[in-house]
Amino acid sequence: MLSICRQCGNYHTEYQFEEVAFLCVNCGYRQEFVRLPLFVITGASGAGKSTIALHLAHRLSDFVVLEVDTFLQCAPLNIDSDYREFRDYCLRVAREVMQHGHPVVLVGSATPGQYESCLNIGFFSKIVYCALVTDNAVLAQRLEVRPDWRASSHPQQIDIMLTYNQWFKDNAAKFGLYLVDNSTQSIEDTVGSLLNWLNSS
Ligand SMILES: [Zn+2]
Repeated sequence: MLSICRQCGNYHTEYQFEEVAFLCVNCGYRQEFVRLPLFVITGASGAGKSTIALHLAHRLSDFVVLEVDTFLQCAPLNIDSDYREFRDYCLRVAREVMQHGHPVVLVGSATPGQYESCLNIGFFSKIVYCALVTDNAVLAQRLEVRPDWRASSHPQQIDIMLTYNQWFKDNAAKFGLYLVDNSTQSIEDTVGSLLNWLNSS
């Protein structure tokens, strides 16, 4: 909906944003769009993101929940660009969904700065983060019992995820992350915490 200029047919590779519109850099055509906040639920593998995503989706009618793993084969995963192509693809889908008038909740591992470096972040009024975290012992236990195909249960991979999990705890204040520790919480309580966060952000 927002990739091609209605007036000149230009395929947008850059946008000149105004409050609720952008100008085509080729012909100056002003395209209005719905601009809302973007919500990101992040956390290490094993933090419970996928489980929570489905529960949230069932509970929310005024937000749209999208799990970013859904798009894994849709855009290149380029470590050299810090996965910017993949992140930008997620944002492109989110900006289109947002045109229905509902904010999007992207669920998937990300650290602050990765979405902010993407072209399509300009479509959102702000980006708000929540990180799901757990105790290290709980996280390790969850990862150890995962099936081999998920490649999460190798000791080296578990160590990486424990460090990632700790990073969110250590940097929450610095980046304004809302932390939800679900080590001992029930799913229902975690969902309740996330609903509070979404409705108060
Ligand atoms: Zn144009």
